[in-house]
Amino acid sequence: MFVIQTNRLIPERFDAYVIGPFVLVRPGKATPGLIAHEREHVVQWLVATIYGTAASLILCQIDAVYALGLMLQIFSPFIHPFLYAESWRYRRWAEVEGHRADIASGEITMDDAINRIQSNYGLPELGAGYPEIRAMFFR
Ligand SMILES: [Zn+2]
Repeated sequence: MFVIQTNRLIPERFDAYVIGPFVLVRPGKATPGLIAHEREHVVQWLVATIYGTAASLILCQIDAVYALGLMLQIFSPFIHPFLYAESWRYRRWAEVEGHRADIASGEITMDDAINRIQSNYGLPELGAGYPEIRAMFFR
C-alpha cells in the first residue's frame, strides 16, 4: 500500500481515494481511521486480483478457454473497481468493511458510519436503509 498526499483524482466529496495499491489522501486529512478504511479497500482490491489471477491460471490449463484465461489475467486488477462501480451491493459491502475499520479506530461511531454509507456512495434507497446497513455490521 502506497499513501500519496495529493488533491488530484480524488472525487470532491471524499478525503481519500484508492486506485489499486495506491491510497490518494488530501494533504492534512490522513487520520489513522481514514488510512485503516482505505487499507481495507486496498485489501479488497488485492483479494479480487488474486482470485481473478488464480481463476485465469486454471482457465489457461484448458485448451477450449485458454484465450478467456489470458483475458482474465489481464483484467484481474480491474475486478474490484469494476464491481465497486457497477454493483451497489458490492459497493455497500465494501463500504461496510471500510467503515468497520473507521469504527475500530475510534474516530467515528456506528451511527456516523451508517449515515455516511447511506448518503455518500450512490446506493439506491432500497439497499441503503438504516436497518439494512446496520444489520450488515453484525454479520
Ligand atoms: Zn470506502
